Amino acid sequence: MPTKPLKICLASPEFAPLAKTGGLADVSAALSLYLHRAGHDVRVLIPRYRRINEQGLDIQPVKGMASIRMRLGDREIHFGIDRTTLPDSGLPVYLLRCPEFFDRDNIYTQDPDEHLRFVLLSHAALQMCQRMAFAPDIVSCHDWQTSLIPLFLKSVYAWDELFRKTRSTLTIHNIGYQGMFPAWTLGELGLAGAEHHLHQDDLKDGVINFLKTGIMYADLVTTVSPTYAREILGEDYGMGLNGLLRERANSLFGILNGVDYDEWNPATDKLIPANFTPADLSGKARCKERLMVETGLEPRPDRPLIGIVSRLVGQKGFDLVENVVPALLAERDFAITVLGSGERLFEDFFNWLTHRYPGRASFYQGFSNELAHWIEAGADMFLMPSLYEPSGLNQMYSLKYGTVPVVRETGGLADSVDQIIPASATGTGILFRDYNAEGLNWALNRGLDFYANEPLWQAVVQNGMQQDFSWDRQGALYVQLFSELSQTS
Ligand code: ADP
Repeated sequence: MPTKPLKICLASPEFAPLAKTGGLADVSAALSLYLHRAGHDVRVLIPRYRRINEQGLDIQPVKGMASIRMRLGDREIHFGIDRTTLPDSGLPVYLLRCPEFFDRDNIYTQDPDEHLRFVLLSHAALQMCQRMAFAPDIVSCHDWQTSLIPLFLKSVYAWDELFRKTRSTLTIHNIGYQGMFPAWTLGELGLAGAEHHLHQDDLKDGVINFLKTGIMYADLVTTVSPTYAREILGEDYGMGLNGLLRERANSLFGILNGVDYDEWNPATDKLIPANFTPADLSGKARCKERLMVETGLEPRPDRPLIGIVSRLVGQKGFDLVENVVPALLAERDFAITVLGSGERLFEDFFNWLTHRYPGRASFYQGFSNELAHWIEAGADMFLMPSLYEPSGLNQMYSLKYGTVPVVRETGGLADSVDQIIPASATGTGILFRDYNAEGLNWALNRGLDFYANEPLWQAVVQNGMQQDFSWDRQGALYVQLFSELSQTS
């Protein structure tokens, strides 16, 4: 049965392609686009960061919202709401203009007012609804940066009839980032007399935890894969929030992220050197050759090439890579190409690796969407040995590009990659269970052995390319949840 069109306000700190550090940006954009195309009225709010490439965007102040004042603690903050339209889609995106907070080098900062930047985003989302007289059925919040909205709705904005039927959802993209700030920030949250709703034991310990507050007050909590939704109920993955999540288990749902196949499709991808399809993989061979040449690897088409595109942080399993890959490069004939930036330790390691194995290891330190596409298209295998991975997107991109994922069996990796069974030539990738060097070593050796078995490899590549992780499916699951929630009293 078609659902009634919903009114949705989506507040997010990231939104692709305007402001991106990771998967959150891809997901908030793709979900909004899906909802928009499905006929729902979606109003997206993100900060107008300096980083946004405004070339080609028509950005206009919204009438009645060009200049707004708000007091947060001792500070009077001036902001405005601008509006632009996402090229090719017609999706309106509202931009929170506050140069004092967002005209900075990076999307996230270590600055002492980091909490204020996102407290403002959270208030601005609701104030924008008020000024547009937009009564959302759902306010969709994403990660700690917008996690105070559910509490705001139940306290400081509860007087407003506009929000009488509004329900809030919080999507946890990564429970490792909780937004924890010292208790002295209490007076700056704009909670006006509702401070007692915060977690009192935390306050006694001198802490305010934004994500925890969101989990306490959101009407529904979602996370980005069914396996991760189960994992975070336990101590190993819950990062201290597992107890609270267990209390809310009936309101917790896992929906795997979808892929935007308009952007990630080897048949139409404009960024890669040659297009290809499951029926004709000659373009993939060309992509591999160009990738090897451009990244400074020896152009050896027969040599298996492993790709990595990642934030270089502990979560992603690089301590295992450090333990396993140098020795394996000495033992077996393969090449590895890495794109990423992050912790110095890992950047140093990959720089070292390229010097230790010139022609067989390459590293581009930085962020490059184009090179990310090249690696997805040109590599034979894609490595994600994550300690935890709420959803992960790259393994799903890899499948579409015929690049076989080698992943740890956790979170969304477990939900999107099927173990290869050589006897039946089924499966799409290689999964290892235990987070240790033996596990990764086993998985990489297995990948290299399978690669040498040409008929098996071709079958596995085809299996992967047939997978469908489009938003048509995943978006419909959000709509179902949102619709059911909007009907609760
Ligand atoms: P996470 O959100 O934890 O970073 P995901 O796999 O969910 O991990 O999403 C990562 C997204 O960010 C993918 O779209 C990936 O291609 C992109 N990405 C990560 N690092 C880089 C980089 N250095 N250059 C370009 N894209 C990157």
